[in-house]
Amino acid sequence: MKFLCIDCDAQMSYQERRQPGDGTFAAAFTCPSCGRRIAMLANPMETQLVSSLGVQIGGRVLDEQPAFVRGMVKRIYTDYAVERAITDITPDVMDRARTDLGLEEM
Ligand SMILES: [Zn+2]
Repeated sequence: MKFLCIDCDAQMSYQERRQPGDGTFAAAFTCPSCGRRIAMLANPMETQLVSSLGVQIGGRVLDEQPAFVRGMVKRIYTDYAVERAITDITPDVMDRARTDLGLEEM
């Protein structure tokens, strides 16, 4: 995963990252040419996805999420699907679940 400054066509350099421990993840990047800064934010699901893919951000693999967070997130979707007799938990279903359950932040 790379971030490019469109104006400069330069690769943004990684500046800092934060993992506050609630499953979310934030990383800041700066353009070495014009100094523009951007930040990438990931919710717990996205953070987990990135972790499970072993994608390196800022040259380091993300810390593994604690098992209880993974279990909790999984159970939210499983419960949602069971209550509605949904057999396949597709990304569509997960989107709907987040909206229905007011979990847009996750
Ligand atoms: Zn730039």
